[in-house]
Amino acid sequence: MIQELISTFQHLIGNDHVLVHDDDLKKYASDETENLFYMPDLVLKPNTTEEVSSIMKICHQHKITVTPRGAGTGLSGGALAHKGGIILSFERMNRILSIDEENLQVTTEPGVITQVLQEAVAAKGLFYPPDPSSRGTCFIGGNVAENSGGPRAVKYGVVKDYVLNLEVVLPNGDIIWTGANVLKNATGYNLTQLFVGSEGTLGLVTKIVLKLIPHPKHDLLILAPFYDLEKAGAAVSAIFRAGFTPSVLELVEIDALKIVNRMVDSHLVPVTDDMAAHLIIEVDGNDPDVLMKEIESIAAVLSDYDCGELYFAEDPTQKEALWKLRRRVAEAVKTEGFSIEEDTVVPRAALPALIRGVKELGRRFDFEAVCYGHAGDGNLHIRIRKQGHPYSLDNPEVTPALRALFELVHKLGGTISGEHGIGLIQKSYMDIVFADAALDSMRKIKSAFDPHHILNPGKIF
Ligand SMILES: Cc1cc2nc3c(=O)[nH]c(=O)nc-3n(C[C@H](O)[C@H](O)[C@H](O)COP(=O)(O)OP(=O)(O)OC[C@H]3O[C@@H](n4cnc5c(N)ncnc54)[C@H](O)[C@@H]3O)c2cc1C
Repeated sequence: MIQELISTFQHLIGNDHVLVHDDDLKKYASDETENLFYMPDLVLKPNTTEEVSSIMKICHQHKITVTPRGAGTGLSGGALAHKGGIILSFERMNRILSIDEENLQVTTEPGVITQVLQEAVAAKGLFYPPDPSSRGTCFIGGNVAENSGGPRAVKYGVVKDYVLNLEVVLPNGDIIWTGANVLKNATGYNLTQLFVGSEGTLGLVTKIVLKLIPHPKHDLLILAPFYDLEKAGAAVSAIFRAGFTPSVLELVEIDALKIVNRMVDSHLVPVTDDMAAHLIIEVDGNDPDVLMKEIESIAAVLSDYDCGELYFAEDPTQKEALWKLRRRVAEAVKTEGFSIEEDTVVPRAALPALIRGVKELGRRFDFEAVCYGHAGDGNLHIRIRKQGHPYSLDNPEVTPALRALFELVHKLGGTISGEHGIGLIQKSYMDIVFADAALDSMRKIKSAFDPHHILNPGKIF
């Protein structure tokens, strides 16, 4: 990058917030996606919307590519500057601006850590439910850009269900608000929802207004072991058919549990060799007696699917220990070589067919797979290990297996990402789930907002 431009940025946001040295840039060259590394030319850390706007005006004029970045916990390579240029990091824009207790809303900057935001509103008796397992590190702005989910999506929905209004800096530097701070809005095109999940390709989110709900007072958490993986999958939709909506319904295959147990040296979860999977089930509400009856009824449903003895997490310490295990599954299996993570989602009742299909594909393409994730939503993460073949975007030893997996998912009525987004790593599979005309419509939207294709280019398409 030419020195004159660097000096302009230094003047604009301060020398300390313009990173130029390789040692600094390296920290922004990867995210949590497997094996990707792209050095940016420059990292900018603005502090205000106006600074973001000024940066974009310069970049628009000089046609410099800009990649927005939150905490870099993304799993599809979205925050990586794979074409070089600037990384615009939101780490300094980390203020919660207001919590409106009368209207149950919070207005925040994008660089606030999700858990920090959740705890700040919980201190006022309010609940912001979307809780990606990365909530201790990821940013709320990244969550909006990815339309993130998490374990509680099964009852409470995903990020899109809570975003009321966004302040966005467009690629040309213009600043807009997309909607209004209201619960209903039938005014013009729904720009708010267009930006949610757009993976930083249409604009930079600089302020976020979120809907909150009252915090439920009680919850009950159980673990249910199964001896047959497909039966565990089948039990998931049976729970809903019986009239229950748990606040969490996660599935963890036993191999993944064994690995995470070893990693955190825990004996909390009973694991025997004949087990195939556990379901983690939580119900929440305001009346503990009602919750206990609900759990008993759910247990009766599970018994039709050869469920073993239920384990109750009795107190907050046990619950937290169980959650800690669940949240660390991805990290644990990755350390054991399951480096390729796919984010499949199918209609809930198709889970057994998906699980069966994954195992068949493993035999056909010679890979091992472990399944875990948000089974209540039909959203299963499938971690793949193929001995001797580290994953890269175009590794011919791996991509045919992934294509076959996504074709299976599509055949089952599902799609190729439930919550991690497309970014860099899934874009070559978009043709499986979208017709040319649909993809073309998306490209036209991109060009309308970003005619020079300077903002996060090469992502999604
Ligand atoms: C261990 C682990 C567990 C995870 N569990 C879950 C889970 O349960 N559910 C889930 O949905 N995801 C999960 N994720 C994925 C990841 O945490 C989410 O996608 C998260 O929302 C990314 O946030 P981030 O701040 O790290 O964003 P980044 O990775 O920095 O960026 C993600 C995308 O958002 C864009 N972006 C970031 N900020 C902005 C902004 N202000 N304006 C415009 N674009 C922006 C970037 O350009 C990029 O395309 C997990 C990841 C890990 C490592």
